[in-house]
Amino acid sequence: MKPNDTEQFGVLIGSRNEDESSIWINKCTTPQRGDISHRTRFTMKDLFHQKTITKEFKESNGELGYIGTWHTHPQDVPTPSIIDLNDWDQCALRNPDRQLVFVIIGNKQVNIYIKNKEQIEMVMKEIDT
Ligand SMILES: [Zn+2]
Repeated sequence: MKPNDTEQFGVLIGSRNEDESSIWINKCTTPQRGDISHRTRFTMKDLFHQKTITKEFKESNGELGYIGTWHTHPQDVPTPSIIDLNDWDQCALRNPDRQLVFVIIGNKQVNIYIKNKEQIEMVMKEIDT
């Protein structure tokens, strides 16, 4: 991202095995016209994201569903903001039956977080070479 680029974001759609030891991310959505994107924050307002989740769920007979969200940060090494952490708390409260995955894409590193109601864990850091 260049300094003036606005954040990019979307939902992650995928599947998990029964004990959640493996989670697969199959698809993601990207920003839509009805969304709001600023340099360091975004609001996912467009109905496209929920519609896509519902469509994938139906077409896969319930195999694919909402896994979490991804977004970019204008930082080389991204760290979750307070807004991110609060948002992830809300997502976890709305989905108490499952672990969620949150991805933050920085300029040089991608962070992947696994979250359930109680805790959050960073499971992977990928350095862009
Ligand atoms: Zn963020």
